[in-house]
Amino acid sequence: MTEPLPVFPYHPDAVNYGVVKQKAITCSACGKARDWAYTGPFRSADAPEPLNLCPWCVADGNAAQKYGGTFQEADFEEFVTPASLQAVLRRTPGFPTMNPIFWPGHHGECCIFLGDFIPEEQPELLEQASVREELGRIAREVGLAEDNLHYSNNSLYILLFQCSTCHSYRLSTDFS
Ligand SMILES: [Zn+2]
Ligand SMILES: [Zn+2]
Repeated sequence: MTEPLPVFPYHPDAVNYGVVKQKAITCSACGKARDWAYTGPFRSADAPEPLNLCPWCVADGNAAQKYGGTFQEADFEEFVTPASLQAVLRRTPGFPTMNPIFWPGHHGECCIFLGDFIPEEQPELLEQASVREELGRIAREVGLAEDNLHYSNNSLYILLFQCSTCHSYRLSTDFS
């Protein structure tokens, strides 16, 4: 019997994003033989090396609790609920970034991480008012024309988030 993969409400596409991979491991946290491994970042001073984590121990908080760790290196909005913040930090697959990122929030909660924003591949998103607004903000912040944000040629990476309440989009940035 194959156990279905856990659902990650704040990073629903973790498998496609490549931080949950099909790979046979024995999980360091639960000791079980698993066919799936979490391969994203995990920050903990107490974790053994090598560390193998299964996605189930990410989702239920077992890994974060056992090793006192977190899956995100990010700053957050001050207004997000503690429950939402803890869910992102301790039960949500992280993803590799060059620098600590800013994890947006909206309507009192941390937003959902949808993946990289590559406008050439997601032109329909450019029609969304919230995406246009966010691109305008980022363009001002980095001092580039909005049209030049669309390609990862500025060592600028744009990350796509969505509010779980109003479904508007939020963007964040990372730089190589
Ligand atoms: Zn496990
Ligand atoms: Zn919202």
